[in-house]
Amino acid sequence: MYNPSSSKAEEFISHQEILDTIQFANQYKNNISLIREILSKASLEKGLSHRDAALLMACEDPSITKEIYALAGKIKDHYYGSRIVLFAPLYLSNYCINGCTYCPYHRGNSGVVRRKLSQDEIREQVIALQDMGHKRLAIEAGEHPIHNPIEYILESIETIYSIKHKNGSIRRVNVNIAATTVENYRRLAEAGIGTYVLFQETYHRESYERLHPTGPKSNYAYHTEAMDRAMEGGIDDVGLGVLFGLGNYLYELTGILMHAEHLETRFGVGPHTISVPRIRRAEGVDPSQFTEGIDDETFAKICAVIRIAVPYTGMIISTRESAAVRERVLSLGISQISGGSRTTVGGYETEEYEDNGTEQFDISDRRTLDEIVKWLMELSYIPSFCTACYREGRTGDRFMALCKNGQIQNCCHPNALMTLKEYLMDYASPETRAVGEKLIKEQLRHIPAEKVKMITEERLTAIEGGSRDFRF
Ligand code: SF4
Ligand code: SF4
Repeated sequence: MYNPSSSKAEEFISHQEILDTIQFANQYKNNISLIREILSKASLEKGLSHRDAALLMACEDPSITKEIYALAGKIKDHYYGSRIVLFAPLYLSNYCINGCTYCPYHRGNSGVVRRKLSQDEIREQVIALQDMGHKRLAIEAGEHPIHNPIEYILESIETIYSIKHKNGSIRRVNVNIAATTVENYRRLAEAGIGTYVLFQETYHRESYERLHPTGPKSNYAYHTEAMDRAMEGGIDDVGLGVLFGLGNYLYELTGILMHAEHLETRFGVGPHTISVPRIRRAEGVDPSQFTEGIDDETFAKICAVIRIAVPYTGMIISTRESAAVRERVLSLGISQISGGSRTTVGGYETEEYEDNGTEQFDISDRRTLDEIVKWLMELSYIPSFCTACYREGRTGDRFMALCKNGQIQNCCHPNALMTLKEYLMDYASPETRAVGEKLIKEQLRHIPAEKVKMITEERLTAIEGGSRDFRF
C-alpha cells in the first residue's frame, strides 16, 4: 500500500503506485487540456506531484516539450539565476565487497587495480585540488568493512578539512558512501559533512536485486531507507540519484520523485540535491547487458521535468556527460557541475587525466577546471565556489525555508561573485581572469539591495588586497 509518510521502503516507494502512475501517464499523454492544466500549476513554481511529472514526461507533443523546456529554464532562472556551483569528486578507495554488475569496483572484478589512499596521499590529492581552485569536494569510497570502515572515512574528512595550502581550503565535504547505520550517520554529521549522497541506482526492486546480486548493498529495503536513517542521525542535507540506463526511465523518474515526496512528508525537508548520472562504459562492465539507455533528448527532458517538479532541489551533473550535453542541460535546471574531475583513486597526482587502472567510469568532459570556468562565463553563467549555507548553519529546513521564500538569492549572487573573484585572483589563467573580471563588473549591477551591493564591492576590493573567505 502506498504511504509517503511510512518508514518502510515498500510503502513509500510502492511498486504498484509507480505502475499506476505509468499507466495514468500513458493513458492521458495525449490529453493536451489536462497537460496544460498541469503546466499552469507548474508555472506557480511550487513543484508537481510524481503523477503530474510522469504525465509531462510521457507526453510526446513537440510543442508541449518546448513549453516544458521554457518553464524549466524560467524556474531555474528564478531560483538559481545564472550561477553554477562547482565541485570535484575525490575517490578515497575502490575496495568494495558489493557485487554491483554495472560498476568496475564490484568485488569479482580482478581487472581493476585496488587502491586506498593513506592520509598522506589524501593530503597530496587535496593540495592538488586546492591548487586547481576547488572549495567543495564529494568524497567517494567503496563499501569495505576492513579497508574503508567508518573510522577511515571520518579520519579522511578531518584530514581534508585541516589542510590549508596557500589560499586554499576545502570548505564543504559531501560524502558518497554506502548505506549505513543511524549511529554512523550521526558520526558523519558530527564530522561536519555537507550533503550525504547515495544513489538509489534503480527503484525497481526486482532489477535492483538482479543488479546487486551479492554484498550488503543487495538489501533493497536497507539501501532505500538509508536517507531516513541519515536524517534520523542528524544529517540535514541528503542527495538522491538514479543511474539512468539501468531501468525504465519513467519508472525511475517516478521513483525518485516519490522518494523526494517521502522525505518532505516524513521530515519536512526534501532532498538537497538530485543527481542524474547515465551509465557509462567502464573496465569489466559489459554495456550490452543494459538495454534501457536513454538518448540525449530524453535525458534533457528528464532534467527539465525534475526541475519543474522539485524547484528547490539542486541538480547535479558530472563529467560523465560531454561538454555539449552539459551545456544543453544547464539551461534546463542543472545547478551544480563537477569540473577537472578524476574518477580514479589518486587521480589528481598527475597533471593530465590518466587512468591508473583504478577508474570507476570513463569521463567525457576532460577539460581542466580553468577551461570549465571560462566556458561557463562565456555562456553567461557565473561559476560559483560558494559553500556559505552549510558554514552559516543554513541547512535542512532552515535552508529550504529561505529557498522557498526566495531570500536565498540575496546570498547566492554576491557569494558567487566573491568566490569567483577569489578563484580569479588565486588560480585562473590570464585569459580566464580577464573574462571573469568583466563578468563580475556586469553582474554587480544585478544585486538589487544597495547595501548588499556596497558591501560586496568592498569585499571584492578586500579580496584584491589579499583577504579571503567572505560570505553572506
Ligand atoms: S557502485 Fe559502489 S557499492 Fe557498488 S561496486 Fe561500485 S563502489 Fe561498490
Ligand atoms: S548561498 Fe547557499 S544556496 Fe547559495 S550558492 Fe551559496 S551555499 Fe548554495
